[in-house]
Amino acid sequence: MLNALFNILSAAALSVSLFIHPVPDSAGAFTVMNHPLFLAAVLGSMLLSIFIAPMCYKKSDSFMPILSRETLFLNRKQRHFGRYGDHQERAADIRMYEQDRICAHVLHENTTALTSSRLLRLIGSMSRLKALGSALSYLFTGVVYLFVCVKAWAGAFGVGAVTQYVSALTSLSQSIMSLVTALGAVQNNAYFLQTNFRFLDIPNNMYQGSLTTEKRADREYDVEFRDVSFKYPGSDQYSLRHVSVKFKIGKRMAIVGQNGSGKTTFIKLLCRLYDPTEGQILLNGIDIRKYRYDDYMNVFAIVFQDFQLFAFTLGENVAAGQHYDRARAERCLRDAGFGERLDQMPKGLDTWLYRFFDEQGVEVSGGEAQKIAIARALYKDAPFIILDEPTAALDPIAEAEVYSKFDTIAGDKTSIYISHRLSSCRFCDEIAVFDRGQIVQQGTHEELLNDTNGKYHALWHAQAQYYTEKKDLLHAAD
Ligand code: ADP
Repeated sequence: MLNALFNILSAAALSVSLFIHPVPDSAGAFTVMNHPLFLAAVLGSMLLSIFIAPMCYKKSDSFMPILSRETLFLNRKQRHFGRYGDHQERAADIRMYEQDRICAHVLHENTTALTSSRLLRLIGSMSRLKALGSALSYLFTGVVYLFVCVKAWAGAFGVGAVTQYVSALTSLSQSIMSLVTALGAVQNNAYFLQTNFRFLDIPNNMYQGSLTTEKRADREYDVEFRDVSFKYPGSDQYSLRHVSVKFKIGKRMAIVGQNGSGKTTFIKLLCRLYDPTEGQILLNGIDIRKYRYDDYMNVFAIVFQDFQLFAFTLGENVAAGQHYDRARAERCLRDAGFGERLDQMPKGLDTWLYRFFDEQGVEVSGGEAQKIAIARALYKDAPFIILDEPTAALDPIAEAEVYSKFDTIAGDKTSIYISHRLSSCRFCDEIAVFDRGQIVQQGTHEELLNDTNGKYHALWHAQAQYYTEKKDLLHAAD
C-alpha cells in the first residue's frame, strides 16, 4: 500500500503540467481544450474510470467467501476423488474392484453440482464485474492517449512529453488499482483468516511441563502407570480403566489382548499423545506431565504399527537425519535383520527409498519396511523401545528371525512389545493381558498359562487350536 501511495504522489506530480500547459491560440479550434469545463470533463472521466475499475474488481472478489462456502464440500470431494489414483498403495484395489468407475461417477455428480445454475449465476456476476473493470481500465488508457496526443498535436508541448504524461497517468491508474485491491484483499481475506484464528485459538489443554529428564548413563528409567483411566475426548466410554503397572528396568514386557482391548491407547498415553483422564503416569517418580515434552520423548523409541518411511536414502531414514554415523546405521540395519538385503544394494546406505526422486530408488516390501523402521528405532538408542505389532508384516521366517534377535535388538533397553499373537510374546519376561481396557492378568508365560480360568489361557488355546487344526488338516492331506 505504501508503494502504491508513493507512486500515486509522484505520478500526480508528473501529470499536473498536462492540464496546465495551454494549447497555443494558433491551434484554432483546438483551443477549446484550454476551457476549464473541457479540462474538468476529461479529468472527471479519467478519475471516474480510475476509481470505478478497481471498485469493480473489489466487488467481484467480495463474492469469494460466498463462493468458497458454497463449494467447500464439493471442492474437497473433487480433490479427493480426482486424485484417488495418485496413491500408489491404492492402485491394486482400484484395478481389482474397478474403483475408478465409482470415482468417475462421483466426479460426474460433483461436476454437475459445481456447475449448478445458482453457482454459475454467482460466477457470472463476478466475471461481469471483472469484465467491466477491465473495460474501464482500457477506456481510461484510450482517453489518456487521445487527450495527450491531441494536445501535443495542437502544440501544447513537445512529442517527448507524450511519453512522460502517458506513463505517469498509466502508473497513476495502476497504483490506485493496487491500493484499492490491497485494501479489498485485507477486507475479503478476513473471512478466510477467521478459520485460521479459530484454529489458533483452540486452547492447548495439555499441561506443558518444564522439567528436563535426567540424563542417566545407566538408563535406569522407571515408568509406572498408577491407577490410570482414560476416555477419548468426546467419548463417554472408558478405553482404559484403573490400569496400574510398573515396567521393570531392562526387562522385556509384552502387552497382549484382543483388538480394541486398549493396547494402543496404553502406548498413546505413555507417549503423552493424550493425558490420562484419571490417575498418573510417572517417570522416575515424577508425573510425566511435568517434563518438557520433547525431552520426555527422547526416552522412547517407538515403532508404530502404521510407521512411515520417507523418500530419503536408506541411511537417512535409519538415522532420521542427513549427517549420521554410517557404521552405526549399518549395524542397526543388520541387527534388525536387514543385512542380507543391504548387501544386495549396490549403493548400500545411499540407496534411495522409493522412486520419487531417483529412478534407481528401491520399492521395499512391507516386511522390509518394518525392518527399516525397527533399525530407525535402534539408531535412536533410547532407554525404552516400544514395538507395536512389529512382526505383523513379516513372513514366519523373518518373524522367527526377529524373535531370535530380540535380545540383540533390545540390548539393555527396557522394551515393550505389543501383539495380539501370543506365541510371539513367550520370550518376554513379563506379559500383561489387556481385556476391555483393563489389565486382567500379569505374569510370565508359564504362570499365565497355568491359570486355566484366565484370559491368557483362553486366548492361547483359541490361537493354538487354530494352528493345531491346520496341522491336522495338513497331516490328513499328506
Ligand atoms: P487395541 O490397540 O488393543 O486394538 P485400542 O487402544 O486401539 O485397542 O482401542 C481401545 C478402545 O478405544 C476401543 O474400544 C476403540 O474403539 C477406542 N478408541 C480407539 N481410538 C479412539 C479414538 N480416537 N476415539 C475414540 N475411541 C477410540
